[in-house]
Order: sequence, then C-alpha cells, then structure tokens
Amino acid sequence: MVHLLESQGYIKNPQIRDAFLQVDRANFVPEKYRSKAYFDTPLPIGHAQTISAPSMVAIMLHLLEIEQNSKVLEIGTGSGYNACLLACLGARVFTIERLYPLYEMAKENMKQCPYRDRITILFGDGSGGFPKEAPYQRIMVTCGAPDIPKPLVEQLENGGIMVIPVGGTFFQELYVVEKDSNGNLRKRIWGDVAFVPMVGKYGHRWA
Ligand code: SAM
Repeated sequence: MVHLLESQGYIKNPQIRDAFLQVDRANFVPEKYRSKAYFDTPLPIGHAQTISAPSMVAIMLHLLEIEQNSKVLEIGTGSGYNACLLACLGARVFTIERLYPLYEMAKENMKQCPYRDRITILFGDGSGGFPKEAPYQRIMVTCGAPDIPKPLVEQLENGGIMVIPVGGTFFQELYVVEKDSNGNLRKRIWGDVAFVPMVGKYGHRWA
C-alpha cells in the first residue's frame, strides 16, 4: 500500500511514508474488512461511518505540513487511524468523535499505536472545536461541514493551517485554510472530495 501511494505521488515525503509504515491500517478496520485493509479505498467502520481511503489521508497530511510537537485538533476520530498517523508525525493530538461506540472502538484500536501517549481522545460534538486546548497549530476535519465553522477558525493559531471538507452531505470541496501571522485568512480549494457529514451544532443538523 505504501509503495503504491508513493509511486502514485500521494506520499511525498519520508516522514509521511514512515508514519504509514509504522501505523498498520489493519489494526483500525473491522475484522471482516481486514483482508482489504491495504486497498486504497474507504472502508466501513460501523454506524454508517468510514475510515477514509489512504490516498485521501496522505493528501490531507501533506497539506497540513505537520511539525514536531505541533498541537493538532482532529474532528472525527472514527477508527483512530488518522490520529495515530498524526502522532507518529510528532504532533500532540486532540481528537473528537461524536458517536460513542466509535469513540470506544478508537480507544481500543489506539492501544496498538506506538505514540498513544501523544493522543487525547474526546467524546462529543467537535463541530465547535475544543476551546479548552486552543489555539491549535493545525486543524484536520475528517467529516464534511456545510461551512467552515467559526469556532474552528477562532481556535486556529496565527500561522496555522486547517484542512476541511466543505459542502453537502455526500460531496464537498476540500478547503485549505491558512491563517497568517496577523490573523488574516487565505482559503484555497484543493479539489472535490466525498466525506461522511459533520453532524452537530456547526455541522449538518439532520441524521
Ligand atoms: N479520521 C477517521 C479515521 O481515521 O478513521 C475517519 C473519520 S470518518 C470519515 C468521519 C468521522 O467524523 C465519523 O466517525 C463521524 O462519526 C465523525 N463526526 C461527524 N460529525 C462529527 C462531529 N460533529 N464531531 C465529532 N465527530 C464527528
């Protein structure tokens, strides 16, 4: 899987390659999908949610430019895979999941993560972020929001980067939001993506 992602240009640097090699995706997918763990495809993780395709994860990690010891907020823990990759890249990770069974499952899955002590996993609606630990140098949103939630912008540190899918409940555009040292925002669109919806106060209201 890692060789494929590298040869296709999704993994662009040795740090991200090492993180993918260290965190075994098979530990984060349900037993019945384990034989497909190294396919470049999203897989169901229960409760109508998915673990994203590895290429999508690699793209987002690359856009985020993770630095050693940076404080990263992730919205949508899901299986916990992404949070472990972030921790492997040297981040201190705060990750939030709104579905309790997935929060419990991610905690279990993360026991396999060599950098588990860098991760704080939280249960609840993360659409408004986690102000208690703000500001964050990076924010990674792995569910599709209708708009960029204002609290997430506020919780992004000056000089910080947020990646967030924005759009409908099936298809979105991936935004890269950069906040400069004066607090000014620059938004650019990476391209079209398909994430499960963000559900919550600043997310979609239904479902
Ligand atoms: N990052 C995950 C991984 O590594 O497996 C995949 C995330 S999955 C595509 C999106 C997750 O976002 C789902 O688990 C879903 O329950 C969660 N989610 C949706 N709305 C949320 C919210 N308001 N707060 C926290 N999590 C949310």
